[in-house]
Amino acid sequence: MPLHINTPLLESPILSRHCGRQVWLKMDALQPPGSFKIRGVGHACEYHYRQGARRFVSSSGGNAGLAVAYAGRRLGAAVTVVVPESTTERAKSLLQLEQAELIVHGDSWQEANQHALSLVGASDAFIHPFDDPLLWAGHASLVDEVYDAGLKPDAVVLCVGGGGLLAGVAEGLLRQDAAAVPILTVETEGAASLHQSILAGEQITLPAITSVASSLGAKRICDQAWALTSSRRIISTTVSDRAALEACERFVDDHRVLVEPACGASLALVYQQAPELAGFEKLLVIACGGATMTMAQMRSWMGEPA
Ligand SMILES: *Cc1c(COP(=O)(O)O)cnc(C)c1O
Repeated sequence: MPLHINTPLLESPILSRHCGRQVWLKMDALQPPGSFKIRGVGHACEYHYRQGARRFVSSSGGNAGLAVAYAGRRLGAAVTVVVPESTTERAKSLLQLEQAELIVHGDSWQEANQHALSLVGASDAFIHPFDDPLLWAGHASLVDEVYDAGLKPDAVVLCVGGGGLLAGVAEGLLRQDAAAVPILTVETEGAASLHQSILAGEQITLPAITSVASSLGAKRICDQAWALTSSRRIISTTVSDRAALEACERFVDDHRVLVEPACGASLALVYQQAPELAGFEKLLVIACGGATMTMAQMRSWMGEPA
C-alpha cells in the first residue's frame, strides 16, 4: 500500500466555462499530508526504509517536511526536521502533530539545511525536497492515475519550485507514451527560477526570493528540470503574487478547498485566461495543495484584518 492516495480527478464546470475549454483538476491538495509531495517523498522513504534506514532527516518547514513526517510515522521510522526560525507556528505544530522531532536552527533555510545534513548518520536517510530521481518516480504516479482514469489531456498546468513536480510529471507522461503533451509551467514573478533561466538561456540562480509563494522559493531549479526545457515542450509563464492569491480565494468559492499561493499560481493561469492556453481543448491542472495555509494567513496576505 503506497503512502499517498489516488486523489479525485474532477472536471470543473466553473473553470471550464470560465476559460472556454475543458479543465480537469487533479486534487492533490487532498493528500493526507496536504500536498502532492507525499507521492515522491513516500516513494523515497519506503525505498530507504527497505534499505535499512530507520530515521529520515529533512530541512523543510513546508510541505516536503510534512510529507516526510507523515511517511515516517506511517512506516514506524523516526523523523527529524530542521527548520529555520522564520518557520510559521502553524507549520511547526503540524510537524509536531506528526510526531517529528523538530529542531529550530538558523536564520535561513541554508543554515537549517547545513545543520540537517550534519545530523545524518549511517542508519539515516536525508530526504531532499525536489532534487532526487526517487522523488520524481513517485510524483509520476499522479500522471498514471489520470491516464488510468481514461483522461488524455492535451496540456498539463503545474507550478515550479525546484522542479521536482515538473520532473515527475514529465516522467509520468513519458511512461504513458504521452511525452508530446506540453507542460505549462507557472511561477510567481518573485520566484521565477525556471522562467529566468529560460530567458537567460542558461540555468541561473536567483539573487533572492520575493514572493509569498514559499513553496516555489527555490533560487535554482534542479538540473533535471533544466534538461527538460530542451528535451520536451515546456511553456513557461509567470503570474503576480496578487493573481496567485486571488486565485486561491476564488478556488475556495468554486471548489471549497483552500490551497496555498504556489498552487494558486497554477490556478491563476486558468482564471486569467492566459494567452498561453490558446489552442488547448482539454487541460489538466494540478491542484498541488498547501498544508500550512489558513484563512487567517489568506486574510493577512490580502491586506484584510484577520
Ligand atoms: C513543493 C511544492 C511545489 C513546488 O514543487 P517543486 O517540486 O519544488 O517544483 C509547489 N506547490 C506545492 C504545494 C508544493 O508543496
